[in-house]
Amino acid sequence: PPAVAAAAAASAPAHVLLICFPGQGHVNPMLRLAKRVAAKGLLVTFSSVASVGARLVAAAGVSAGGDGVPVGRGRVRFEFLEDGDPGPDLDDLMRHLETAGPPAFAALLRRQAEEGRPVACVVVNPFLPWASDVAAGEGIPTAVLWVQSCAVFSLYYHHVHGLVEFPPEDDPAARFRLPGLPEMSAADVPSFLLPSNPFKLLADAIITQFRTIGRASWVLVNSFAELEADVVAALPGVTPRPPELIPVGPLIELQQGEEDDAVRGDLIKAADNCVEWLDAQPPRSVVYASVGSVVVLSPGEVAEMAHGLASTGRPFLWVVRLDTQPHLPAGFLDSVSGRGAVVPWSPQDRVLAHPSTACFLTHCGWNSTLETVAAGVPVVAFPQWGDQCTDARFLVEELGMGVRLRAAPAGLRREAVRDAVEAAVAGPRAGEMLASARRWSAAARAAVAPGGSSDAHVQAFVDEVAR
Ligand code: UDP
Repeated sequence: PPAVAAAAAASAPAHVLLICFPGQGHVNPMLRLAKRVAAKGLLVTFSSVASVGARLVAAAGVSAGGDGVPVGRGRVRFEFLEDGDPGPDLDDLMRHLETAGPPAFAALLRRQAEEGRPVACVVVNPFLPWASDVAAGEGIPTAVLWVQSCAVFSLYYHHVHGLVEFPPEDDPAARFRLPGLPEMSAADVPSFLLPSNPFKLLADAIITQFRTIGRASWVLVNSFAELEADVVAALPGVTPRPPELIPVGPLIELQQGEEDDAVRGDLIKAADNCVEWLDAQPPRSVVYASVGSVVVLSPGEVAEMAHGLASTGRPFLWVVRLDTQPHLPAGFLDSVSGRGAVVPWSPQDRVLAHPSTACFLTHCGWNSTLETVAAGVPVVAFPQWGDQCTDARFLVEELGMGVRLRAAPAGLRREAVRDAVEAAVAGPRAGEMLASARRWSAAARAAVAPGGSSDAHVQAFVDEVAR
């Protein structure tokens, strides 16, 4: 009867719908935010473009539509845009989404209302600037999830508003300063903002975010207050005034077993023997190496990395994408058999949390950065481009959690790989770096524990949305 239906609707939990940019480094933090919000009692729908949907169904086993899965006191469900398929090229996809995205997203939002779960808030990923326009058109308030650091936000903000001039790239000694940040050189700036940047479309997409970001009712950030206190405190003093950043991270898997496993964001199926392999290694012995989902090492770099890792004499677990594995030196896998494992994709959160893992040779993507901070694992930082350059600066020089791996002008050398790993695991400063990593790990875990700074920010967001 109508009265019963009305009563049920009145007591239904508020519905938050997230729309995510197609990329592993976006899906992971957005889905983890979805889980945090659901755990506090809301209904959360995670959405993205059709191609991400197909990969999540295949690799993570999620199913679209329906009631979704229980997470804490709420539920997480999935729905994907019917946007057609432009193929695998990212530039093609970006152009295609400009026209196909808005009508498909508007249809998705209307369907929620028609099916009895009207959307109370849309969480947009600012790489999809049109998504907030569509939500506004439907009269739905938006939150942004910024998936990089507050430091990077500040660098972009100052650049977009013409408030900073970065030093020339060919002058490594030249420095600049921004409020709340240490003195920096051009090498610390997200490379998309420098004249030599070849990725113009991506840079435009990032800069366009600032067109809509100020209109959001909340700007949530994957970081935590204690990690970036100075820059967060300095931002309100910048004119024109940036939006208030609300740190809700680190958005990591909380290693709570079934709850995390119920919904994972892997776009590639992780090799399932990694944890067992780690179980068989001595405590704090393994070098874990990965450059994330986007960076592609050249054939020469793959070969040098292979010889370098082998020459450490330590066990290693190395993520090498399937399309890159043909560049491994001939006979390499046999020669390191037992001691070295090469996998196309790992369950990275579990690898970093494993007691056998000693250090992480990382490209310093922001998710990998926060994950290693939260796990308390020292790093060998090997940034390639984008915000990885800024993240490496923080991990190594500000947090004191590791060393840098630098390629010589002629390219990466195996000796440099070996020496950097040795410095991080057994060198004279290794103990200090491990102690720093453990201190930051404790702070990260405290931030997301019940009542911690980030947990309180998620709760406040949930309370406002549910009101
Ligand atoms: N990741 C993973 N298995 C791997 C490599 C990466 O699960 O073998 C995850 C990692 O934990 C992180 C994400 O993929 O959450 C990569 O994001 P990040 O920002 O570090 O780098 P990107 O891939 O965006 O460059």
